[in-house]
Amino acid sequence: MTVLPLLQPESPDGGDVALARGVREPNARARHKAALPPKHLADLDLAGRRAVAAEMGEKAFRANQISTHYFGRLVRDPGQMTDIPAADRDRLTAALMPSLLTPVRELDCDNGTTRKTLWRLHDGSLVESVLMGYPDRVTVCISSQAGCGMACPFCATGQAGLTRNLSTAEIVDQVVWFAGVAASGVLADCPPRLSRVVFMGMGEPLANYARVIEAVHRLTTPAPEGLGLSQRHITVSTVGLVPAIDRLIAEDLSVTLALSLHAPDDDLRDELVPVNQRWKVAEVLDAVWRYAAHTGRRVSIEYAMIKNVNDQPWRADLLGRLLSGRLAHVNLIPLNPTPGSRWDASPKPVEREFVRRLRAAGVPTTVRDTRGREIDGACGQLAAAEVDG
Ligand code: SAH
Repeated sequence: MTVLPLLQPESPDGGDVALARGVREPNARARHKAALPPKHLADLDLAGRRAVAAEMGEKAFRANQISTHYFGRLVRDPGQMTDIPAADRDRLTAALMPSLLTPVRELDCDNGTTRKTLWRLHDGSLVESVLMGYPDRVTVCISSQAGCGMACPFCATGQAGLTRNLSTAEIVDQVVWFAGVAASGVLADCPPRLSRVVFMGMGEPLANYARVIEAVHRLTTPAPEGLGLSQRHITVSTVGLVPAIDRLIAEDLSVTLALSLHAPDDDLRDELVPVNQRWKVAEVLDAVWRYAAHTGRRVSIEYAMIKNVNDQPWRADLLGRLLSGRLAHVNLIPLNPTPGSRWDASPKPVEREFVRRLRAAGVPTTVRDTRGREIDGACGQLAAAEVDG
């Protein structure tokens, strides 16, 4: 593991990776009560950005130019925006590109192809994102909330509760930042273009619904309005908020949906994913089958393998029966034990037997690679989803 030099100077009050576990800096909330981040061009569509420029007395097309720098060229330094008169650059970037994410700490492993950044937001909240380079693709795993309110007991973020939702631009900027890192060529033997986004960092994306959907639009609309990624290459992972899944169906997007199931029976899922007390296994699976039917896209079923908790052969068989014949694939995640947790990862032979039984039931199953484990994924939960498409 390497601690990378920071791209920007570290401020005296930040810098502890342990704080990334959904915990805000001391008194952050007291200092800035529910303070929203400043508006950024990524919060707005192109028309909205042009309106801001016009209100400032600038020509509206300056908004297109600055958008091309940000989304098209991945440039955020006003000094490089030479097509805009020098006198206007600072005003325009101050109004449309305020700094939202300050890197507090950067770590890398896997020969530099996995890189985690801990960010401080304007109000002191801390979130993480992870960049993962592969020979054929570059994926970024991003956060949608500071903290999380879903309280899953095996998840580090879940322990500290929700601090706040991220703004659309705070979500988008994680991706644009890492697209710039990838384009700089620092990922050895990986393509220079970031192509995939997984919402598997901190937070429950469907609990920050409107901003996450807006972020998906921004990420998938071509430049200069957005980043121009493919919808199919964006994965939204959820604990299973059924009404929000139905809203997502109505959006008519073709993003990949991942469901954090973790148990095939209500007794255990009520404990592992407490929102199951509201929407039961059968209900949440029905909802994802509606999503699969509407989009034609295979749903990814996430299942953290927890020793002697959810890894029994009978649970593999029950899961196999629930998923057999469905447009689904299982992604087993070796549990990344969180500090102080009473739980551990399943032994490899138990994991292999679980896989064997699922496959015997005709359910495509993969075991997630343990990318970034050395740098603690982020909260033990960030890793590449084996996403198809
Ligand atoms: N809230 C969303 C997305 C964030 S977590 C969701 O729950 O889907 C991304 C994935 O990592 C989820 O499947 C989550 O259950 C899993 N995860 C969380 N903590 C983990 C841990 N300690 N070990 C392995 N997987 C974990």
